[in-house]
Amino acid sequence: MRALICGAGIAGLTLAWHLERAGWEVEMVERAAAFRDGGYMIDFYGPGLQVADRMGSRPRLMEARYPVNELSYVDGAGRRTSHLTLTSGLEEVVSLLRGDLARAIADDVRAPIVYGATVESLEQDADGVSVRLTDGTSRDVDLLVGADGTHSRVRGLVFGDVTPRYLGHQVAAYTVADEKLSRQVGTRYQMLTKPGLMAGAYALRGGRLALLFLRREPDPALSDDPAAALARHFGHLGWILPEVLPRCPNPPELYYDQVTQVEMERWHRGRVVLAGDACQAVSLFAGHGASMAMAGAWILADELAAARGDVPGAAVRYQARMAPAIGEVQRFGRRFVEWMAPSSRWRIAARDLLFRLAALPGGDRLFVSSLSPGGHNLITSRPG
Ligand SMILES: Cc1cc2nc3c(=O)[nH]c(=O)nc-3n(C[C@H](O)[C@H](O)[C@H](O)COP(=O)(O)OP(=O)(O)OC[C@H]3O[C@@H](n4cnc5c(N)ncnc54)[C@H](O)[C@@H]3O)c2cc1C
Repeated sequence: MRALICGAGIAGLTLAWHLERAGWEVEMVERAAAFRDGGYMIDFYGPGLQVADRMGSRPRLMEARYPVNELSYVDGAGRRTSHLTLTSGLEEVVSLLRGDLARAIADDVRAPIVYGATVESLEQDADGVSVRLTDGTSRDVDLLVGADGTHSRVRGLVFGDVTPRYLGHQVAAYTVADEKLSRQVGTRYQMLTKPGLMAGAYALRGGRLALLFLRREPDPALSDDPAAALARHFGHLGWILPEVLPRCPNPPELYYDQVTQVEMERWHRGRVVLAGDACQAVSLFAGHGASMAMAGAWILADELAAARGDVPGAAVRYQARMAPAIGEVQRFGRRFVEWMAPSSRWRIAARDLLFRLAALPGGDRLFVSSLSPGGHNLITSRPG
């Protein structure tokens, strides 16, 4: 059986890992010119970590992880306004760069990756899918997977326009090299919030700093000049921002996008199946997307293994197992919007108060356990 996976990200690589071990001939096509390292910091936990354990990847994740000993909010002068010291219950939350998670999976994937290309067009019948790539080559496969993220090209070709649900925010993330600021921020996740604005920083190894910017914006249209837009909205807020904003890179080093969730009635048509953010994006507010992308890829591989060649049947069962958990995580994400990026001063004050309560004995454990909505039993049971 042959599979072509469009998108060598978290879902695509996880699926390739499992399919090739089940005897499939797998190839991947990736739009980026080279492997996408770096990116933004993610908290990785829940069903994705269970999948990583089954793949034997945990030692690599532990090498790549960053310790986060404290979450703190600061004011424009860099003074801490509230904080939460994280001392316990953290073994099951791995903080690392998205690129490092992808690398940990990719290191054990043998499938060739065609970089700098995507799917140009496709045709399918009951026996297979003929795919034409933008590099002019063609493939005949038994399965085409669109694991190409929230703006999925495969989804567009098969389902036409699907408008993701816009959660009223735009997000930007990049890393800068700065020994001094990296030391200053240390093993804390520091954030500064003003109504509708959130900037966060975390120190990386090698004197680097990971930065995240979140802005409430009713208009989903993205700026043509993201660096200028970031400087305009965040440049006057103080803290480390005047030093890091002028060093904002251009895409692809800069991640800049709308915050969205993808909701679809069907994740598959015949032998074309979507995976990860392409069909189930939960958004950064849910904090669970990479984990759910790995869980979905594992379940798809699990169903394909049981289906003995019946790709459409496996796709139906994969969605049936995965979609309820995704709905739950997406609902959680929508409820979390106001806490991560409070829209008013009283919400900022309420959040600070909650942080102070969580700082009481045992509060950090409670805080960490509240991160894990949905998907608890995804990786253990295959319905008969
Ligand atoms: C700022 C931010 C913070 C986040 N924090 C967390 C967190 O704390 N915890 C968590 O679990 N998740 C988090 N997420 C979500 C998580 O990163 C995603 O849900 C996860 O990466 C989805 O995996 P994926 O494989 O579907 O997509 P991706 O990992 O994005 O991979 C998609 C791949 O497809 C490629 N591609 C795109 N278009 C095409 C095309 N047309 N043709 C070929 N290839 C294409 C891309 O280059 C990429 O390599 C966060 C996301 C963001 C933006």
